[in-house]
Amino acid sequence: MSQLKLKISDLEVKYGSFTALKQINMDVSHGELVVLLGANGAGKSTIFRAISGLNKSSNGEIRFLDQKVNGISPDKLVKLGIVQCAEGRKLFPEMSVYENLQMGAYVHRKNKTEIKKSTEHVYELFPILADKKDDAAGSLSGGQQQMLAIGRSLMAKPKLLLLDEPSLGLAPLIVKQMFEIIQQINQEGTTILLAEQNASAALKIADRGYVIENGRIVVKGTSNELFNNEEIRKAYIGA
Ligand code: ATP
Repeated sequence: MSQLKLKISDLEVKYGSFTALKQINMDVSHGELVVLLGANGAGKSTIFRAISGLNKSSNGEIRFLDQKVNGISPDKLVKLGIVQCAEGRKLFPEMSVYENLQMGAYVHRKNKTEIKKSTEHVYELFPILADKKDDAAGSLSGGQQQMLAIGRSLMAKPKLLLLDEPSLGLAPLIVKQMFEIIQQINQEGTTILLAEQNASAALKIADRGYVIENGRIVVKGTSNELFNNEEIRKAYIGA
């Protein structure tokens, strides 16, 4: 049986008196690509923010490898290997592509050889970033900025990469490319939890998935099971 990397048990998260997540149970095993599907406002980002330490949980447990991680600060979680590529990208627009990538490697500050290797790997995955390495991040197109955001996350050498809506706002052709690259990153050995509204494309590359509605997981299954589930098709795939 594959090794469990992330295990979330009975997680509850509140914003003031509003309970945004209720009794969330999820797990991700070593090497998997797991997708979290849900409409706007269902609670996907809140789960991600809880895993990466940005949201406090009011109940339940998040375990990563063999450790309870709720309550650990976001920067320590990055050092443990939980790296989130944020929705909205959050790049440094005035800084160059190369400099943005180096910022992602701050956890490996002392190891210059590692950082150089990671930078080259990102340039192999996204050749356009190599072409534009001296350009300001703010001058890139939306798709290129998303690639840079993913590249920057990879610089931290994630053991678990959290991708929150990487296809948001991108042109269809770029979306296709983006999913191919996400699949490649997973096949190269990075465990991925992906939140998406683009259910059809996400299920094509994922091993398993969870569906969240109003802060609760309502269905889980293999990608095939979810893809062939009529309710899910109606709600999220539309065919
Ligand atoms: P989206 O794709 O729109 O980001 P989502 O599935 O990621 O949707 P969340 O952002 O996790 O959804 O939001 C879940 C619920 O929590 C929503 O009802 C949202 O209005 C609420 N919410 C999110 N952030 C806050 C906050 N800072 N304060 C209060 N309520 C919040």
